[in-house]
Amino acid sequence: MRISRKDLGLDGGVPAHFREALVRWFEKDGAATGIPERDRLRYSSDLDPEACHRKIWYGLHGETQGLAPTRETLGSQLRFWGGRRFEDAIGSALVESGLTVQRQALVKPLRPSAWCWAPGHADLLVVDWRRLLEIKAPRAEAFRRARGKPDELVRVQYRYQLSAYFHELHRRGLVETAAWIFLDREGSNEPVEIEFEGDFVVPIEGVVAEEEAKAYLVTADEPPPRLPFTKIAKVWKGKPPRKNQAAQRVVKGYSWRSWRCGYCQWESVCKPGEAVQEFTPSTEERAEAVTAAERRWATGNKTTPQIVPLGSRINETEVAEATCEAEEVAAGVLEEATDEVSGNGAEPMGPF
Ligand code: SF4
Repeated sequence: MRISRKDLGLDGGVPAHFREALVRWFEKDGAATGIPERDRLRYSSDLDPEACHRKIWYGLHGETQGLAPTRETLGSQLRFWGGRRFEDAIGSALVESGLTVQRQALVKPLRPSAWCWAPGHADLLVVDWRRLLEIKAPRAEAFRRARGKPDELVRVQYRYQLSAYFHELHRRGLVETAAWIFLDREGSNEPVEIEFEGDFVVPIEGVVAEEEAKAYLVTADEPPPRLPFTKIAKVWKGKPPRKNQAAQRVVKGYSWRSWRCGYCQWESVCKPGEAVQEFTPSTEERAEAVTAAERRWATGNKTTPQIVPLGSRINETEVAEATCEAEEVAAGVLEEATDEVSGNGAEPMGPF
């Protein structure tokens, strides 16, 4: 008799007893290391100007996903645990070298703010150097995308997070400089240190404006809207038109949700929809797409189908960036959809 994964208690993941043991251990480890629960605004992810407001609202208003009290998935807890071990290694190395290091330095705004209660903890404060170090451990893929330019590892959310920490600790006279240390969590690249200076520094006014823009989430009774879908149209030239007839362009619409939804721990609660969906463009959208495609063909571009972003919310550069960052699953689904539409040899859309 064949024994199924379910018979073994795997049920789509690790065996139940193993899972429960891990959840219990993470609760114990989190309590021992003072890792705060996910019940307030966070500097690390919530101050990100691109963060989904709905996601923040879920975190603030007690959605649990059955993982109380940590409210994180097992996967994200393992990742955070791994990040803390990297941080411990660097902190221990600095202490071994004779320096005084404050780990998880508490950051609180020196002003009235909903973020006064956010658990802001800067990774490492090297007291002797009056220097703040934030440790980031992205995947090797992030290093590959940076193409040998380490500054490109710095995401906008890292800038806001470190700016918030730096301004507050600087005003208290505790730090003079700051930097990120990027470690490849997969071990394929050497660590790099990136100085926090120049354009990386968000002025305190910019940090405060971002905090104020999200303060309403603390008291909002209803979750804010989901992240919008991005829409594109593919336009094929179609058959050559008969004499005195207009060309019959073939137009298909595709929309895909934000790549952020694929990484969101509230996805099962929020239900943001399939990663990629085909839709029938409206008359206006069809006209917009055909006009843009014909303009390109008129300038000598021979590609068919043409891929045209729809709506004023995005431009073509943003489409390319959005697709660059889209999760692999969306890429796979859209590739399948694209192949179906074109039959074969479809032009890939951006990185898809
Ligand atoms: S699934 Fe998407 S829209 Fe919903 S909360 Fe998460 S990021 Fe926001």
